[in-house]
Amino acid sequence: MKTDIEIKSTEELLSELGVMKTGHFVLTSGRHSSFYFEKFRILERPETTSVLCARMADIIKKKAGPKIDLVCGPATGGMILAFEVAKILRLGCVYLEKSESGFCLLRGMRIPIGAKTLIVDDVLTTGKSLDAAHKAIVEAGGSVVLKAVMIDRRKAKDSLDAVLALYTAQGEDYLPDQCPLCTADVPLVDPKTGREILRR
Ligand SMILES: [Zn+2]
Repeated sequence: MKTDIEIKSTEELLSELGVMKTGHFVLTSGRHSSFYFEKFRILERPETTSVLCARMADIIKKKAGPKIDLVCGPATGGMILAFEVAKILRLGCVYLEKSESGFCLLRGMRIPIGAKTLIVDDVLTTGKSLDAAHKAIVEAGGSVVLKAVMIDRRKAKDSLDAVLALYTAQGEDYLPDQCPLCTADVPLVDPKTGREILRR
């Protein structure tokens, strides 16, 4: 029998947990947006996280079949999701940590030469983080066969480099000097700290 969580759609679960916040936020890219996905509203609920990762694993299996050797999770949220997806796929997992140039492997973790690697991450906004993870894996000797995210909030989703997403959101973001929310004097918030940022 399915649990209460399993019978709900991904959209229902994200909405129930208050994952999407609306307001005026500065994104990691520096752009401004009227909405923001706080992945930690998911990650602080391990049972829901597991259910959503099982759904990710299902779409990954359909797409990649047995072609994956290893799962890789970039810091921070990607580490937790990659762990769970790797567990379901019965594969090993490595974790990328933040470095000055992007991501790196620490603590003696290695990627076997030529290992067909799946990157699992939380929220895709600009693709910069996935690109940095891709670069780190290739530099370590692996190859990237697939990228999967829980939430794709990119504005343009027509990238040649396809990414699997469990949930897709469409929304605008703006360069700070072209942001209508700034023009309307809506308080700007750093979503990581929840604090208002004073603008000049
Ligand atoms: Zn703004």
